[in-house]
Amino acid sequence: MSLIQLHDLYFKPYISSNEIDRIIESLVEEVYNDLPKNEVPLFVGILNGSFLFAADFIRKFNRNCEVSFVKLASYQGTESTQIVDQLIGINEDLTDRTVIILEDIIDTGNTLQKIYEIFKNKHVKELKIATLFFKPEVYKKELPINYIGKSIEDKFIVGYGLDYNGHGRNLPSVYQLTSKPNMKNIVLFGPPGAGKGTQAEILKDKYNLIHISTGVVFREHIKNETELGVLAKSYIDAGDLVPDEVTINMLKEEVNKNSNANGFIFDGFPRTQSQAVALEDFLAEKGEQVNGMVALEVPENLLVERLLERGKTSGRSDDTDESKIRNRFNEYNTKTAVLKDFYEEKNKYYGVNGVGSIEEITARISKIFDTL
Ligand code: AMP
Repeated sequence: MSLIQLHDLYFKPYISSNEIDRIIESLVEEVYNDLPKNEVPLFVGILNGSFLFAADFIRKFNRNCEVSFVKLASYQGTESTQIVDQLIGINEDLTDRTVIILEDIIDTGNTLQKIYEIFKNKHVKELKIATLFFKPEVYKKELPINYIGKSIEDKFIVGYGLDYNGHGRNLPSVYQLTSKPNMKNIVLFGPPGAGKGTQAEILKDKYNLIHISTGVVFREHIKNETELGVLAKSYIDAGDLVPDEVTINMLKEEVNKNSNANGFIFDGFPRTQSQAVALEDFLAEKGEQVNGMVALEVPENLLVERLLERGKTSGRSDDTDESKIRNRFNEYNTKTAVLKDFYEEKNKYYGVNGVGSIEEITARISKIFDTL
C-alpha cells in the first residue's frame, strides 16, 4: 500500500482490508451470539459512511434479518432557531423490534446522541449500537456503545466508506492523515554497468541525499565475513539475485540508520516486483514515497564491454567472467526490467539516455531530479 493524496492532504496506510475483514467477522459473531435464536433484527446503517461496513457486516450475518439505511439530516425548525435532527429513510414500524445501528465511526458521540434521541419514542424492544471504529480519547458521552470493532487514536482517517471532502470512500482499506512527505526518494535504475553507481556518487552530494547501493552493502558484508555476507556470496558470485527477504531486510536497516536524511538514492534496489512493493509499503509507513524512478538506458553490447573493462580493476568476482555477466543480464531481463512498468503505471518512470560522458549524463539526470 502506498501513500495517497486526496485534495490537498496526504494519508498513509493504517488498517488493511484484511484486518477490517477480521474486525467485522468478530463483531458479527458477538452480535449473533447475543441475539435470541428466533429474533429477526433490523440492522440500520447510517449513511453515507457506513455503506461498506453495513454491506460487509450483513453479508457475514448468517441468519434472517432486515436491513435499512438512514441519513441523519439537520434542518432549521420552523418555529424557533433551534436545529432539529431527523432520520430520513426509516419507514418500518419499529414497535417491539430489536434495532441494531451500524455506524462506521463514533468519535465525540454527537451523532450517536442524536440517534438515541430519535429512537427514544419509537417503542423499540431494544436499541443497540455497533460501530466499526471508535475514538476513546474524544468520546464525551455516557451513552452505551454495545459493540466496538476497533478503538483507534484520534487522528483523521479516510477509506472504507469514510471520506475527506467527498473523496476516499471507495478505498478498500483505511488511511490515516499524515504530513506532506518531505523526503526526495529516487530509484536509480538500469542494467548492470549502466553507470548507476558513478552517477549516484555525484548526485548524492549535489542533492544532499543518502546513496544506498545494495550491491556495495553486500560486498561490505562479504568483506567483513558477516553472516549476511556468507549467505549472499554464493548468489553474487554466480551473478544471481540474492533472495528478496534477505535483501529487503538489509535495505530497511540501511534506511533506518539514516532516519534524518533529506532522502535517498536507491541504487540496485528494487530489483524485483516484490522488492518494489516492499519499498512502497516501507516508505508509506513513514509517510514517505518514491518520487520517481530514473532509468539509465544503455544498449546491452556496450554494457558487456564496460563491465569487462571495469572487471580489470574493480576486483569484483562477477565482473570478470562473461558468462556471469550474461547471467546478470538474464536476471535483469527476467526479474528487474518489469519494474519499468511498475513505476510507469504510477507516472513515476523517467528514462534517460545513458550513453555519453559522465558529465553529460549527470546533466540529463539532474534535469529530472530538479522536478521531483
Ligand atoms: P550491483 O553492485 O548492484 O551490480 O549488485 C551486485 C550483486 O549483488 C547482484 O548481481 C546481486 O547478486 C546482488 N544484489 C544487489 N542488489 C540486489 C537486489 N536488490 N536484489 C537481489 N540481489 C541484489
